[in-house]
Amino acid sequence: MDTISITHPAPPPTRELRGLKLHRERGHEIESIGKGRYEVPGCSGGSYRVDLAPFGGTESCNCPDFRRHHDTCKHLVAATVARAKARTRARTVQAERTAARASRGNVASLTSLS
Ligand SMILES: [Zn+2]
Repeated sequence: MDTISITHPAPPPTRELRGLKLHRERGHEIESIGKGRYEVPGCSGGSYRVDLAPFGGTESCNCPDFRRHHDTCKHLVAATVARAKARTRARTVQAERTAARASRGNVASLTSLS
């Protein structure tokens, strides 16, 4: 009786995974150029322009992969991750500022009592 092999060739990484990898490795190079547009570094030098269409419409990227498939490419995924992280960071900064203001206020009211 044959034994069933459990060694399958690795599936090709999906665009989502490649996008996450791109963000992990080069996320610091992703640049917001305003209104949901991002410059995302390409693998072979240069960068691609991603439009996340924040006001509706279709998300797009000017890389060959996107042009060919008219589908999500890794740059789009990486830019989406970058945007989500930037939002989280903005919220955190806001929360820290509010907390700092509140504690300063407390200190002020304490010192005014003395
Ligand atoms: Zn792309």
